[in-house]
Amino acid sequence: MSDLITVTGVVLSTMPIGDYDKRVVLLTKERGKITAFAKGARRTTSALLAATNPFVFGTFDLYEGRSSYNLRQASVKHHFTELAMEQPGVYYGFYFLELADYYGKEYTDEIAMINLLYVTVKALLNPRIDNKLIRRIFELKTLVIQGEYPQMFACNQCGITENLTQYFEEANGILCGECAGNSVHARAIDGSTLYTMQYIISAPVEKLYTFAVSLKVQNCLDVIVGQWLAHHMDRQLKSQTILEMML
Ligand SMILES: [Zn+2]
Repeated sequence: MSDLITVTGVVLSTMPIGDYDKRVVLLTKERGKITAFAKGARRTTSALLAATNPFVFGTFDLYEGRSSYNLRQASVKHHFTELAMEQPGVYYGFYFLELADYYGKEYTDEIAMINLLYVTVKALLNPRIDNKLIRRIFELKTLVIQGEYPQMFACNQCGITENLTQYFEEANGILCGECAGNSVHARAIDGSTLYTMQYIISAPVEKLYTFAVSLKVQNCLDVIVGQWLAHHMDRQLKSQTILEMML
C-alpha cells in the first residue's frame, strides 16, 4: 500500500529514465528535497510533460512508496518557460537551482528557499535588474537561510556597531577599524557595500530585488560573497562552472 500526499514546491532538476520516464528532484515545503519517479512524463500526451521541467512551481501529488515517490499529477502555478530564451539569464537560473539542491535536505521545511527561488527567477526575467547583482543577492540570502552567513551588523570582536570599516572572513564578518588594527588580512569595506549586505541579510524576500548598486559595490560583493561561498562549500557546482564559461 502507498499513500497519496500533496506537496508544494519547485522542480530543481530532471533526468530521463528509459524511453518515456523521468526522475524529478523536487524542493518541497512538506518533505524537503525529494526525488520522484514520473512514469510516462516524456510522452507527448502525458499530463506530466509540462510539469516535469526545471523552474516549474506548483503542487505535486505523489504516491509515497516504501523507498521512493511516484509523481501522479501536478498542478502548475508557474512554468517560467520564457526563462529559456534569456541568455545568459537561464544559466544563472540553473546555477540557482543547483545551489538550492546542494543545500536542500530531506524532511526540512524548504519554503524559505522555494520563495527565494521564486522571486529570484522573476528577477532574472526583469531586464532592469543586473544578473550579476541577482546572483550575489541570491547567494547571500541562501547563506542566511542556511544559517552560515557573514555577521555584518556589529564588530565581530568588540561588538560595537560604529566604525565598521573592515571585512575579515576569518573573523566571521565585519570588524571595527580599531579591532582590525593593522591586520593585512582584513579588507576595507565601504559604507554602501556594508549597507547593501545588511539589507540583503535582513530584508524579506519580496523586497530583495528592489535596488541597484554601483560598480564598486558590485565588485566588492563579488569578492566577499564569492569567497565566502567558495570557502563554505565542499565542491564547485557544475552549473557554476558553466555559468562562468558563459560570462
Ligand atoms: Zn571592534
